[in-house]
Amino acid sequence: MPDRKNEIVLHGIAGSPGICIGKAYLMDREGVDVVPKYTLGKGQLEAEKKRFKTAVKKAIDELHQIIADTPEELRENAKILETHVVLLKDKMLYGRTIETMEDELINAEWALRKVVLSIKPLFEGMGDGYLRDRAEDVVNVSDRVMKHLTGAEEVSIGAITKRVILVAPDLSPAETSQIQLERIMGFVTDRGGKASHTSIIARSLEIPAVLGLEQATRIIRNDDIIVLDGNAGVVVINPSEETLAEAEARKSLYEERRAQYARSGHLPAKTRDGIDLAVMGNIELPEEVVAVKDRGGDGIGLYRTEFQYMARRDFPGEEELFESYRDVVDLMPDKPVTIRTLDINGDKAVAYISDPEENPVLGLRAIRYCLHKPEVFLTQLRAILRAANHGKVRLLVPMISRIEEILEVKRLMAKAADSLKQDGLPHQKKVPLGAMIEVPSAAIMADTLAPEVDFFSIGTNDLIQYTMAIDRGNRDVAYLYNPLNPAVLRLLKMIVDAAAAHDKPVFMCGEMAGEPIYVPILLGLGLKELSANPQSIPMVKNAIRQLDVDQTRTFVERLLKQTSTEQIERMVQKIYGDLLNNGNHHDWGR
Ligand code: PEP
Ligand code: MG
Repeated sequence: MPDRKNEIVLHGIAGSPGICIGKAYLMDREGVDVVPKYTLGKGQLEAEKKRFKTAVKKAIDELHQIIADTPEELRENAKILETHVVLLKDKMLYGRTIETMEDELINAEWALRKVVLSIKPLFEGMGDGYLRDRAEDVVNVSDRVMKHLTGAEEVSIGAITKRVILVAPDLSPAETSQIQLERIMGFVTDRGGKASHTSIIARSLEIPAVLGLEQATRIIRNDDIIVLDGNAGVVVINPSEETLAEAEARKSLYEERRAQYARSGHLPAKTRDGIDLAVMGNIELPEEVVAVKDRGGDGIGLYRTEFQYMARRDFPGEEELFESYRDVVDLMPDKPVTIRTLDINGDKAVAYISDPEENPVLGLRAIRYCLHKPEVFLTQLRAILRAANHGKVRLLVPMISRIEEILEVKRLMAKAADSLKQDGLPHQKKVPLGAMIEVPSAAIMADTLAPEVDFFSIGTNDLIQYTMAIDRGNRDVAYLYNPLNPAVLRLLKMIVDAAAAHDKPVFMCGEMAGEPIYVPILLGLGLKELSANPQSIPMVKNAIRQLDVDQTRTFVERLLKQTSTEQIERMVQKIYGDLLNNGNHHDWGR
């Protein structure tokens, strides 16, 4: 019998798939450091360059001091710090950061981050082991400079020098989007739910995560070895030799299977009876487009633009927004790019944008905020219409709850186009307009909304939240969060029927579209385009290739007659479980 007596097993919510094994790094405060990003006004460049140079100088002085303070017998170990001093003066890091600031008129922190991300892979790709190790040094010295730039002297995450598993009370979506992938293997949190934006971003970044563990920060200690299984939602603290071996084996198996799927990502998503579907990718930042392309995505089905408004001190301007949108469009030539307008507030509140609300999820979120602040909305609409001149842009509006909102959006789109014409800026006057159906009132009234828009996109994450009256990020009510709830399925049916009656296409970009086990239901309902986080694309395409639309239609008719979630789950598992489950689940023998 394996000896597992010193192990502690914690069960939480499977936030993002993947398995990792490593040392715990405990955050004793909420959140990780966020790298600010903003553009510089004309007169600000020189001052910003000076700020960068001062930070570099402080980092060098600090290193000299540490070297000087190192006792004689340990001097050999301090050699690495001398390498860091040299790196800090090197043209590759120092010179290129200054050049990036000059060329792109962006702040020092962001320029430095960009340069590090571009040169690190060069070192990592080197055959020589010594040079490969220098990749870590580049990250190390840039952190030192970053610390002086942001003034975050006491921020513990900046001090992380090894690859760790982060253990935090909670992480906000903005913080998660800024996680340094080169440092953090995975993360676990006390709070959070599967449909929270935090776990959605972890899935986009492909970082394994277990959320909602409740006691993780109390039970786990710094440097504890932990196994994190993001597929099963389990964390094992102080694993035995046997558990470690088991985890390593499962990790290899999972990665092997994922690589197999990835290789098939570029095959078309055609059903067994010959129906073609499009499988697109959801992104939060322009950098993620590459992952969508690599996984065989047929376009961008959801670009969550609000992330560009976070991790900064002021609203981005039209030019900056336009450039990001154009970057995405340029990377996806001839393929649709669905730009969703600002979905700020709710769990994505930002201090400079609005005051805290009593019930943020039911407050001035998304389109409500944009119509409340038309000047902010018009800036974004202008940027989107300009980017539309470069490719196949669709405009998608989040959180529509009544028809008046759509009519007002159309009026503001026309106003944005008129003002662009007056300014003589190239743009598209009209782009396909879609409403996100994610509030029950919109689903109920979908037949009246359909004539006013070009398409619907169903956001199941919020549709479930608002239908079931549960906070999607709250672990205690996560058990109620289930796409197979009969009320949710009935609403989906209402939406697709209403759209079909008006000959309008319906897409889905909520997380339900990214899970292979739900694909038969979505096919049976008649959806033609699904959009998922990039790593799910190959699995969803694979599921589509296994299915026959006619059969799924009959199956959905039967499902819609059921009254309980459990019954529906049983039926789905019985008919499609073997075909579509990824075999990832494992209860760790307990
Ligand atoms: C949704 O609600 O399903 C959706 C796709 O939007 P978000 O997750 O950004 O709220
Ligand atoms: Mg939503």
